Amino acid sequence: MTQQSSITVLFAGAPATADKFTPGISTVALVQFSGRTILFDTGPYAYRPILLGRLKRLGVDPDAIDTVILSHCHWDTASNADLFPKAQVILHERELAYAQDPAGHDDQTQAYIGRALGKLRPVTIKGDLELAPDVRILDLPGHTPGSIGLQIGNELLAGDAIICARDALIGKPSCPGHDASQAQRSLERALDSASVIYPGHDRQMNIQNGKIISLADYTLRIRLFTDPTGPDEEIQISAHAARSFASWP
Ligand SMILES: [Zn+2]
Repeated sequence: MTQQSSITVLFAGAPATADKFTPGISTVALVQFSGRTILFDTGPYAYRPILLGRLKRLGVDPDAIDTVILSHCHWDTASNADLFPKAQVILHERELAYAQDPAGHDDQTQAYIGRALGKLRPVTIKGDLELAPDVRILDLPGHTPGSIGLQIGNELLAGDAIICARDALIGKPSCPGHDASQAQRSLERALDSASVIYPGHDRQMNIQNGKIISLADYTLRIRLFTDPTGPDEEIQISAHAARSFASWP
């Protein structure tokens, strides 16, 4: 991170799957520097009320967000850009082109995402782009045609170029998607570019020489109202990892 910049994680992503729904728990972060306020990714539609609530608690008016950067146009990262009508929406030109004409019935980049983005007058980029000294967008294609990340000093919001810590640990993308060899190169580039990385579906990782040395703590709570006469049930999943990964291969 640079001296005048800050990253606030609004949603820490989680690598998860379930038998009754697709969780899509993706990372969303607020980045502030030099008077600018950027939202990196916007999450799935279901984040909407929680996202607005978290911004409110931070004292950030949605109208004060000047830029929304979309790492890519999957349903679980790009569904809420319209909540920020004053923001410039930045994404890669290949990503927008695909979103406006997705193949068949793509269940990750649905056609309505491209239609919604078209109404927001998005700004497209062609590759890496420096936004300020020490703040730049990285071209990280593969998971989708135009996946990008945002580097702030030695920290990287990786989008789905790094889905989760396991990808970083084994050195292979678990969801290469559009182009496997591009995804492999982008994973390696992302791991080499920063010492603190926020994957698209996992919590903060600290990296040294391309390897994970520690992971942030994580808690996810799910409340179920399965028994109409009994108390609510709550499942709490926690990963407390002040735990070092130094001994891992
Ligand atoms: Zn994705």
